[in-house]
Amino acid sequence: MEKLKSIILKIKNGERPEREELLYIVSARRTVTKEVREWMYSLARERAVGVYGHDIYLRGLIEFTNYCRNNCYYCGLRRDNRTVNRYRLTREQILDCADKGYELNFRTIVLQGGEDPAYSDDDICSIVRGIKERHPDCAVTLSIGEKSRESYQKYFDAGADRYLLRHETANAAHYRRLHPSELSMENRMRCLLDLRDIGFQIGAGFMVGSPGQTDECYADDLAYLLELQPHMIGIGPFIPHHETPFRDEAAGTLEDTLYFLAVLRIMFPEVLLPATTALGTIHPRGREMGVLAGANVIMPNLSPTSVRKDYLLYDGKICTGDEAAECRYCMERRMESIGYKVVTSRGDHAGFEAERRV
Ligand code: SAH
Ligand code: SF4
Repeated sequence: MEKLKSIILKIKNGERPEREELLYIVSARRTVTKEVREWMYSLARERAVGVYGHDIYLRGLIEFTNYCRNNCYYCGLRRDNRTVNRYRLTREQILDCADKGYELNFRTIVLQGGEDPAYSDDDICSIVRGIKERHPDCAVTLSIGEKSRESYQKYFDAGADRYLLRHETANAAHYRRLHPSELSMENRMRCLLDLRDIGFQIGAGFMVGSPGQTDECYADDLAYLLELQPHMIGIGPFIPHHETPFRDEAAGTLEDTLYFLAVLRIMFPEVLLPATTALGTIHPRGREMGVLAGANVIMPNLSPTSVRKDYLLYDGKICTGDEAAECRYCMERRMESIGYKVVTSRGDHAGFEAERRV
């Protein structure tokens, strides 16, 4: 355990870890003592509190389409899943959700969906503009998959501020295990570079405990993130969906996810790190535990209740029956119960303004 602690402290002091050290951290999660684990969580909390205080940023998630042209093996929305009741929200419905979110003090709206060609770039831009016109003090985040650089530029020019595109895995063999051949890790990574270059705050990330994920894969993810330096990192446990090829695979664990949250927070003190819905799905207090391991962002659902149960990336997803307001106040109480405070703020990355000025 002494070796693990010394590597962690080295990272905390801003030194770049060697490959062998990353691998050591990753594999140590299986033998780490309760004491050292708690030490890592408290170090991670200290790092987050040092930058963001006890503030928790909210993102209002609008899942506006569950059509997807892709066939990722892990995802319940994959195109080969014929059992999904597919839906698309209209521009008006989306703007209504955003208005409701604004009233509930959300200052970031996240538009997420499958890769749905029915929405043209102009449609997306018009929705982004609509939200920004009504609520200029809101940030708009897009999470709509892989597009051309030209499309990304249009979204940015329309006013979108941030883009979430998990890299999923930085290991080529593992990428193949998770995706059919028409999708490539190179294109996913190209997208992230284009997005950053254009000026978005970017979010990468990966699932924890996905099929075929080895210690080498995690080490590749950490090395890739150190290289990319994204503003946000989304991680959550893989959870099987019964209508996918991975239906019989095991889910990622709470312990592993919390461990990686803490490692990421210690590596990236300023990063925006959500305690995800998937984490809340595998444990009733998963999101609270995530915050106590270094997360500082929560993404409650703003989608209309009528479509919630049709946006199932994985089985057992929580909050599919709740109104937006219920989710909002539920999260406020949950955060208060652990000494944190949900704030009304765009919640930009701490270094983002400074980065823009140079
Ligand atoms: N279509 C977009 C956004 C929706 S999917 C995209 O793929 O980027 C959003 C994220 O959900 C994915 O990046 C993936 O990491 C996660 N996800 C998909 N299926 C999952 C599953 N079975 N368990 C946990 N997370 C999953
Ligand atoms: Fe589509 Fe995203 Fe699901 Fe892949 S993960 S099938 S791109 S919604």
